[in-house]
Amino acid sequence: MNFLTGRFAGFLGPEQKLGPLVRLFRANFRPYARRYAFALVMMVIAAAATAGSAYIIKEIINKIFIEKNEGLVFTIAGIIVAVYLVKGFATYFSSVTLTKIGNSLVARLQRQLYDAVLRQDIAFFQSHALGDIMVRISQNASAARSAIDLIVLSLGRDLFTLISLIAVMVVQNPTMSALSLVIAPIAIYGVTHLLRKVRTAARKEVVTSAQIITIVQESVQGIRVVKSFGLEDRLRAAFGRATANVEQLSNRIATLGARSSPLMETLGGFAIAFVVMFGGYQIVHHNADPGAFFSFITALLLAYEPAKRLARFNLDLEKSLVGVRMMYEVLDLVPELQSAPDAVEARFEAASVRFDRVDFAYGEAPVLRGLSLTVPANSVVALVGPSGAGKSTVFSLVERFYDPTGGAVLINGTDVRRFTVDSLRRHIALVTQDTFLFDGTVAANIADGRPDATPAEIEAAARDANAYEFIMAMPGGFEARVGEGGGNLSGGQRQRIAIARAILRQAPILLLDEATSALDAQAERDIQEALGRLMTGRTTFVIAHRLATVRDADLICVMDKGEVVQSGTHEQLMAEGGLYAHLRALQFRDETPTVAAVG
Ligand code: ADP
Repeated sequence: MNFLTGRFAGFLGPEQKLGPLVRLFRANFRPYARRYAFALVMMVIAAAATAGSAYIIKEIINKIFIEKNEGLVFTIAGIIVAVYLVKGFATYFSSVTLTKIGNSLVARLQRQLYDAVLRQDIAFFQSHALGDIMVRISQNASAARSAIDLIVLSLGRDLFTLISLIAVMVVQNPTMSALSLVIAPIAIYGVTHLLRKVRTAARKEVVTSAQIITIVQESVQGIRVVKSFGLEDRLRAAFGRATANVEQLSNRIATLGARSSPLMETLGGFAIAFVVMFGGYQIVHHNADPGAFFSFITALLLAYEPAKRLARFNLDLEKSLVGVRMMYEVLDLVPELQSAPDAVEARFEAASVRFDRVDFAYGEAPVLRGLSLTVPANSVVALVGPSGAGKSTVFSLVERFYDPTGGAVLINGTDVRRFTVDSLRRHIALVTQDTFLFDGTVAANIADGRPDATPAEIEAAARDANAYEFIMAMPGGFEARVGEGGGNLSGGQRQRIAIARAILRQAPILLLDEATSALDAQAERDIQEALGRLMTGRTTFVIAHRLATVRDADLICVMDKGEVVQSGTHEQLMAEGGLYAHLRALQFRDETPTVAAVG
């Protein structure tokens, strides 16, 4: 099941809605508590200053315009400047503090998300598109920040401002205050019903954004295939559809959100018109206090913006909450494959590996059926067989990327499930066919084999891997950068860096998937020689493509459809005939350079 599209059900009750929020606050409030408190105090001060600016209107009208008290002009002007000064600085400090908290929160959540993703087992990565994962890490943390910002700003700034302005209104004219507040429930009701639609659309938007990223990423990674097969049009069309979908969904969210505006504006217009009529009537016929009336109407006008934002609060929160929920889906993912609670540290110098009637399936269809195989310590077993026979799966089970569905994989007689996953993998070095290097220096890539290796050990590993010379010929030597995915190096050079990395690991078990691509004769010899050194003194599983490797192996296992159909040495198997002899003719590359026959 795709975790982006699964589980999500349309409308959620208040508990489900508050759940992620409560969690978000619980987990992240404490480190920022003091800064939040400071921001809150600043927002209260700014709110009070806003109310003060409305309150003072009464004095301006009554003392200056009606009583014409000249002596108070400067005092009042001074007070006005002071009030706005306070408001300005308080707003500045609160917004800077909140921004910093927000940035720190995003960084913190992104680290947690990345950790959660790294923690997952291989099966997770097989079943989730990279785009999903990337969107979750990049967008969901920001959504969490918006949710918190929204709550703090709404409660701190808008609610306090509103309350203090209502206080001013009540002080200046209690009757009119009561009457104009009747509007509030109507507004809240109107906005709430827009919620459900926004929620669904926001969720879809995130999913579709993930598709966009997946398409871009695949296009970049597979650019050679894209160009040589002329797939641009197909990809452009897919990309066009995804972007059009996002556009449509964003529009829908915006339209739904904006629908609150006509509602609020109309209601606001009615409220003000009513106040003007009622207040005017009181002044004309009952000689009411004009200063109080203007102060009231100022407070009402100022209250309008925060009230509008508070009315939309739920709506905006809903959008961010979609991201928060999706974030917790990732943080809550528990990898199926983990160390057992009573697992022990693996500790061995030499490893004999045994597959004991191992059954395995990725899904429904069995991939390994009762596979039994014994590899004595420090010997080399070559796995051969048609593609799809299950050779790579054997590797995955030794690494414990997956657990067998039946039987067991044993190292020195101990089931690998008894070891902690980390300690088991420290005893294994993997050399894959498509060598993967990280963008960084040559030295750093070799050191990935064993992070505590000294420069001298790195150099020795490079020499053993026949990589020393070409490394030294590169500008910068060991400090030269390999480029993204090792792009600055040739295929043969990448392989030798990968071999050096594996040599440095000093692991008793080696899993080697020989490269299928042919190199020039010299590079082949260099690599063969390096591999020879790498295999010495280790228990080696090799998915063999070269005849020399197969010939030299202590044991050859011929696999077909998840079973070992033949095993023995090269000579024995050639004598037996069968699948091996057949494969021999088809599959193995003889790297002794041959002169192509010219027709
Ligand atoms: P080989 O290495 O011999 O080519 P594999 O071990 O890669 O064979 O694959 C064995 C079988 O398992 C194949 O039928 C393949 O389609 C299937 N398979 C391999 N990896 C997966 C996976 N991640 N999910 C589902 N099926 C898989």
